[in-house]
Amino acid sequence: MTSAAAPAAVRQEAQTERGGTMILLVEDNADNQEIYRIILSHHGHTVIQAWDGAAGVRMAREHLPDLILMDLTMPVIDGLEATRMLKADPVTAAIPIIALTAHAMQEDLEAAEAAGCVAYLSKPAEPRRVAEEVGRVLAMSPRTRRTA
Ligand code: MN
Repeated sequence: MTSAAAPAAVRQEAQTERGGTMILLVEDNADNQEIYRIILSHHGHTVIQAWDGAAGVRMAREHLPDLILMDLTMPVIDGLEATRMLKADPVTAAIPIIALTAHAMQEDLEAAEAAGCVAYLSKPAEPRRVAEEVGRVLAMSPRTRRTA
C-alpha cells in the first residue's frame, strides 16, 4: 500500500521552513563577505551577495530580500547612498537595513540612521554578533515576524 501525498497544508509548512529567510549581503571586502555568508548560512538564512552599492540596489530590487546587511564604505555607490535609494523606492522601502561600519563614530551612526538603517554593527563584527543582530532585526520586522 502506498501512502498518499502529504496534505497540502503540511507540504506548505515544510516549504516555508525550508525557504527560510533571504539576506542580501552588500560588502566590498571579500573576507567579510565569506565570514558573514558562512555564519548566516549556518543559521539557516539564504545569502545573496553584492560587492558594491549599485549592485546592492539592483539585487535588492530584483530579489526583495528579507533583510540587507550594508557596508557603508564601498565603491561605485557607498552604503549610505544605496540605503537612501532603497528607502526612497516604495518597492524596497520596508526592507530592514543593518549598516556595517568600520568607523563607529557618533556622526557615522547618525548618518546611517538618517539614511534609513534600522541598526548598525561596527567592524570587525564577530560573526556570532552579526547572526544575533540579524535575528533581532528580523524578529522586529513585520515582513518576517512569522519566521522569527
Ligand atoms: Mn567597505
